[in-house]
Amino acid sequence: MKRAFNFSAGPAILPVYALEEAQKEIVNFKNSGMSLMEVSHRTPLYEDVHNETISLIRELYKVPDNFDILFLQGGASSQFFMIPMNLVHNDEIADYIITGAWSEKAIKEAKILGKKTNVVATSKDKNFNYIPSELKFTPSAKYVHMTSNETIHGVQFKKLPETNGVPLIIDASSDIFSYHIDWKNIGAIYAGAQKNAGPAGATIVIMRKDLYEREKETIPTMLRYSTHAKENSLYNTPPVFTIYMIGLNLKWLKSLGGIDAMNAINEKKAKYIYDAIDESNGFYKGHAEKNCRSLMNIPFIMKSEDLEKKFIKESETLNMIGLKGHRSVGGLRASVYNAMPEEGCLALANFMKDFMKKNG
Ligand SMILES: *Cc1c(COP(=O)(O)O)cnc(C)c1O
Repeated sequence: MKRAFNFSAGPAILPVYALEEAQKEIVNFKNSGMSLMEVSHRTPLYEDVHNETISLIRELYKVPDNFDILFLQGGASSQFFMIPMNLVHNDEIADYIITGAWSEKAIKEAKILGKKTNVVATSKDKNFNYIPSELKFTPSAKYVHMTSNETIHGVQFKKLPETNGVPLIIDASSDIFSYHIDWKNIGAIYAGAQKNAGPAGATIVIMRKDLYEREKETIPTMLRYSTHAKENSLYNTPPVFTIYMIGLNLKWLKSLGGIDAMNAINEKKAKYIYDAIDESNGFYKGHAEKNCRSLMNIPFIMKSEDLEKKFIKESETLNMIGLKGHRSVGGLRASVYNAMPEEGCLALANFMKDFMKKNG
């Protein structure tokens, strides 16, 4: 069997190690005579998997003890409302940095709930191709929300903003576990698993414990962070198989040398593709400005849609799939998450050069 180089933005490529381990254990998990999917979440058999995944996250991501690691459902999209619902009330203000389609979606939910929001900065004027440098924070803000990597527009923060003690809430759905975070100003980090951490079905939320104090009695039980924190994310049935797969993913990450090692590999991987863009004399045009190019999602365009269609068709015959761009940016997008092997990026870069020779 030949594995595809899957450049899809999400659900996305998984490490072969994780898939093969799951395959070995799928019918008979740890000699129990059952699949993990058939096991009660109230048994030690499952609880060990659950706790091992949590410890791997804490160890590899260096999560401080005053943070809880939660597995929630409803996707990263549900965090767009859970965050403002629990963390700001009445006249309190929430700051938002708007850098692309995902941060726009996040602030929209806060507004639907009638929360007071302030836009610290936006890069909408240039269709989100840069990270704004001038940020006008509200000193009394209850949190600052940002999207560390904009999956559609391909821009990524290279440094976290200094919020002077205001908790930073980060949607890291498309770059969690790809570099180390300085936890100093962090209030919470959240991510849907299906891009850089595992298959779909769980949202990882890493939250500073003192933020629970802001929750109100009027918030439904399931929508409060403290409910899940008190019960170690076992208040109701968690997505057991996804959590198991996240664990396998992290074992693989650990075996590579952890997050710093992964980050170095990611720099190298993305460089192959950015170099192919930069050395193409404008045949390929990247969307993001150079100083904020994402290491995870690389959107680029060509001079006509026909050419782009031809590119996608030919790339598919070479086992490269998922390169069609998002409709709001157009063109192509290569998503090169942690699990994308270096050979995949090299193959794409070589194909880009080849295609240009034939069609340039
Ligand atoms: C994909 C994505 C989301 C939405 O995730 P779901 O789990 O599908 O709700 C949110 N934010 C970012 C940055 C994303 O890439």
